[in-house]
Amino acid sequence: MVYLGNQIQALNDYSREAICWLGVKLKGRKTKLNSTGYSCGNPSCYSCEKSNIRSGIDQAFRDLFTEDIMKKLIESKPKELKDLNDTLKSQFTSLRGKTAKDFKENANKIFVKSGYSDWFSKDETLGEKWNYRLARLLNIHTCTYCNREYVFVIRNPNKGKGMVSQFDHWFPKNDYPLLALSFYNLIPSCGTCNGIKASVKLDLDDHLHPYVHSNISNAYQFSFLPKTNKENYIVFKNNNSMFNTKGIDTVNALNLPLIYKGHSDKELQDLIDLRYKYSDNYLNILLENTFKGINISKEERYRLIFGIEIEEDNYHKRIFSKFKRDIINQLLSIKN
Ligand SMILES: [Zn+2]
Ligand SMILES: [Zn+2]
Repeated sequence: MVYLGNQIQALNDYSREAICWLGVKLKGRKTKLNSTGYSCGNPSCYSCEKSNIRSGIDQAFRDLFTEDIMKKLIESKPKELKDLNDTLKSQFTSLRGKTAKDFKENANKIFVKSGYSDWFSKDETLGEKWNYRLARLLNIHTCTYCNREYVFVIRNPNKGKGMVSQFDHWFPKNDYPLLALSFYNLIPSCGTCNGIKASVKLDLDDHLHPYVHSNISNAYQFSFLPKTNKENYIVFKNNNSMFNTKGIDTVNALNLPLIYKGHSDKELQDLIDLRYKYSDNYLNILLENTFKGINISKEERYRLIFGIEIEEDNYHKRIFSKFKRDIINQLLSIKN
């Protein structure tokens, strides 16, 4: 798991367009006939000038959203988002005849179907779809959750197929359709992790969030245990000094121990072989002697020899960075 930072530039770029899109879908365009409609006031804003209201939405649902609420819904951090969701829901259901089911259905229509599935993932009116644009802005190169698949953006200049991260909804869009377009609820991830997360419920009291916990990479450690006298398998250890068991609970919820088990006879075994298979501690020899006489940083040595980054902030740039770093440290610390 990697920390994603505050991503202020990406947030600002995304928020500006998301709020206009949402404003017009909820309130309609502001015109002489529709004085309660939405406009950001910028005459070259596509949504505010050309887009139209989303039909089929309960007026009482539309009325929940002031400009301030829309801004908060797009820009708030996870804890505030969850609170906002709960507040709006209870505001709506306190109205006569309005149920939680109605709230969810209205939110689903506008935020999930029109918003996430169409506008965010398909709409190319302004050039590129938002999933590609957001992925470019975030500039995260491997899956936030597993760090074992690349998710950087590659796209044919003539559009068409390319490669882009999926966006996992940390608060799942099935349970929290209102949060389907919220910036800090969109986590760049691989297909495997996004699929697993779809059926997992995380909450901020018991789990770590990649936009909240800057120490998320250190909340657990990779290690290994013997399976037979020849085979080993990858395990995760909790870092008890941090977050109690939140680190390991998050790792388990994301099913990472199972996923990583598949790398036990591959990447793990390679590292163990470098340490034990040959006459001497070849792991150490590689690191100490490969670039002898050359002025080279520790970071560069690890990158060139093992294909990983060893600075936490850079873990996301290469797959298996945290995993290999932890295992190599452990193997080097064993004296014989
Ligand atoms: Zn606008
Ligand atoms: Zn993943």
